[in-house]
Amino acid sequence: MHASDAVFLEELCPKLRVRHWRQSLHEHTQRCCIYCGKPSESIDHVLPRSRGGLSVTENCVPSCLSCNGHKSDSDAFQWYRRQRFYDPRRAMAIRAWLDGDLRLAIRLLQWATPDQNSEATTPQANLNLQAA
Ligand SMILES: [Zn+2]
Repeated sequence: MHASDAVFLEELCPKLRVRHWRQSLHEHTQRCCIYCGKPSESIDHVLPRSRGGLSVTENCVPSCLSCNGHKSDSDAFQWYRRQRFYDPRRAMAIRAWLDGDLRLAIRLLQWATPDQNSEATTPQANLNLQAA
């Protein structure tokens, strides 16, 4: 499929666009929960929708069902600091993500996830490092 066809399809079908958007969020973190690093199974609204949080990239982070459920409507940073898996590098990554600086957020997450550093030699990761 040509890229232009994809754009056209997404305009025709908002659901498809939302699905692609959610997928792209998961791909940013290599399908890991931004809070604890487990596989991300959901998208968490950092500022809950019940408090006016928007469904935009700057407010939506990949998270596992456990974190998403436990955090519920609490303030994300207050909740996160109380968790056993709290990692200041991840907290910084979340802040960068909320600022819309996904590139920085991804670098911080790679830093916080030593197991995945072996994959940091992929062209994509090199690109991120060089561009930053
Ligand atoms: Zn989690």
